[in-house]
Amino acid sequence: MAKNIKKRKANSLSVDVLIKQLRSYSKEVDVSLLTRAFQFADQAHLGQRRISGEPYLQHPLEVAKILTELKLDPHSVAAGLLHDVVEDTDYTPKDIAIEFGETIAALVEGVTKIGKIVFKSAQEKQAENFRKMIISMSTDIRVLLIKLADRLHNMRTLEALRQEKRERIAMETLEIYAPLANRLGIGWIKNELEDLCLRSMKPDTYQNLVKNVKAGSGERKRYIKTVVKLVQKTLKENNFQCEIHGRSKHLFGIYRKMERQGIPFEEVYDLTAVRILTDTNMSCYALLGLIHSLWRPVPGRFKDYIAIPKSNMYQSLHTTVFGPEAKHIEFQIRTHEMHKIAEEGIASHWVYKEGGQIHAKDERVFAWLRQLLEWQRDLPDTRQFMTSVKNDLFANVVFVFTPKGDLKELIKGSTPIDFAYAVHTEVGDHCVGAKVNGMIAPLRQPLKSGDTVEVTTSSNHKPSKDWLKFVKTSKAKQKIKYYIGLEERTQSLEFGRKLLERECRKEKLSPSEIMKSKELLTSVKDQGISTIGDLLVAIGYGKVSAHQVIRSLLPKQQMKEGITEKIIRKTGIWTSGVKVKGLDDIMIHLSKCCNPVPGEEIIGFITRGRGLSVHTIDCPNIDELDYDKERLIPVEWDKKQKETHSIHISVLTLDRPGLLAAVTSAISNVGANISHADIKTTEDQKGNFLLVVDIKNIKHLEKILKKVESLDGVLQARRIRKG
Ligand code: MN
Repeated sequence: MAKNIKKRKANSLSVDVLIKQLRSYSKEVDVSLLTRAFQFADQAHLGQRRISGEPYLQHPLEVAKILTELKLDPHSVAAGLLHDVVEDTDYTPKDIAIEFGETIAALVEGVTKIGKIVFKSAQEKQAENFRKMIISMSTDIRVLLIKLADRLHNMRTLEALRQEKRERIAMETLEIYAPLANRLGIGWIKNELEDLCLRSMKPDTYQNLVKNVKAGSGERKRYIKTVVKLVQKTLKENNFQCEIHGRSKHLFGIYRKMERQGIPFEEVYDLTAVRILTDTNMSCYALLGLIHSLWRPVPGRFKDYIAIPKSNMYQSLHTTVFGPEAKHIEFQIRTHEMHKIAEEGIASHWVYKEGGQIHAKDERVFAWLRQLLEWQRDLPDTRQFMTSVKNDLFANVVFVFTPKGDLKELIKGSTPIDFAYAVHTEVGDHCVGAKVNGMIAPLRQPLKSGDTVEVTTSSNHKPSKDWLKFVKTSKAKQKIKYYIGLEERTQSLEFGRKLLERECRKEKLSPSEIMKSKELLTSVKDQGISTIGDLLVAIGYGKVSAHQVIRSLLPKQQMKEGITEKIIRKTGIWTSGVKVKGLDDIMIHLSKCCNPVPGEEIIGFITRGRGLSVHTIDCPNIDELDYDKERLIPVEWDKKQKETHSIHISVLTLDRPGLLAAVTSAISNVGANISHADIKTTEDQKGNFLLVVDIKNIKHLEKILKKVESLDGVLQARRIRKG
């Protein structure tokens, strides 16, 4: 490889060379397409020069040539010629599409997009994310191959650049592009990229290696020759048809070995290996046996990549033996097919059809890509993938950058809010605004791969419920919901505390003492409330009445209670005949304003300190009490109760003697007692009897009134309420 690097000098390439190369492996070569692409690039880059001074066009030509070495289809080669047109000239992908069609335009655009990504961190995780992102942005794997060819030529001509830029590009190549080439199985690109990186990053080490390798090369060549001769002789004796040759390890491989094992150059024994190519798997194993019969294998150095291929589908048998002169020598045994895969990688599995569409030859490519991505994710339907090698494995992700260049992977449709939460929960919670690629952007704007996102935060800003309408990541959703829940709880808790304190003050109790008392929670235990916090939240939400909670404490804590109420409670004198659902031990009295009687529709009102007062449903006082709705509770008459109720009746009569006696006897006749009577004469000479009558219920009353009204001389009989 070292030799390769030096040899490449700009021997002015032309499109004819490309066409010739293409013809060597492709039947249908669209000469016109390639010529037009060449002319278009020539004209677009007219006057531009590379930093080295050579005409710019030389670069796309070299890139296109590398693509023919990868045996790519004519569309990819044309795209290679055009790959820098969008980036470096005024042409747009649309111009390319009009001129050369959508396929080529998409390839060029893909390469342009990847070119805009700047790798900033050498952290392994970051590098891995970058590799994933580049694969994800290469919706067509050919984009990735063109990018690799582009990078390879740039690395070959890196010396023209400033040291600083050289190092950055070399580092990026080593971290991102060489591993990508490796995963795509294109061994020679990977090796050359690595060697070029070493040359650029550690020029001295590189030069020393070149010198050392060269110094021993004569001796090594002689040695390998001896080995190859011996093997060939044995193969001939055993009737094997094989290709056999020596192969030197690439410089970076030697360097890595020295670094990893901490050994000097002299101790690297596998500078050269012998490679044997044969026809079938069976032959590979037979050849292995043959080699092992010639020389004793070094223990622990045998690897069967035929039975267990590498993740990039590399297959081969590797063994190291104690060769002639007891020197270690490595053998690589594989079929021609395996060799093709080792050299050409993923491209060796493709068949190019008309229209530039690439089809996967078999399912192995699919498996390969799966391994290539090394991702545990659900893959789309296999058949769908087979129709095109379009890489839609990443259809559901976007990769975006932090301002510092860290990469975040988010699901498609993610917004700056999702990004903010991906950075940190605190950042998400306090996010107020966002800039995407330096421009102010709405918080709901979906992000695209490659976007650089910056969010502004404010310590007193809080997550909004609205965010839930557009965030995509589950992390953001969870955190926002959590925050809102917390917020609502805090608000309810504060409100609940206020209600409880107000209730305490009305009862002239100390809120702080009440909060501390163990009994506070006893009345709400049934409702699953076990902490003061939960109780306050429940009160705040309106699930629990502060008044009832405080009420429940009063007798036990011997809080002040009206004397009359104490008497009533003890003697049970004031039995109202009203039941309240769920409450037994509660003081109930019928309000005097409307003085309800059994049979009337009633409602209870929890008074402050005087128990429950019962009103008729249409009592005007209830309307006034309406502001305190939580104090109103449904009640009903206890039908078992037989007590009578005193009510007031007004009877209007003609001024005629004996009528009072008639009225009172009529009332007595229907079984009611008159406990009080008052008689007045109105100005228009009519009699008005005001009576207090003990009745059983509303029907009883109606009967009385009907009876009284039927008496001769009675104009009207009706109940009056004091209220
Ligand atoms: Mn380029």
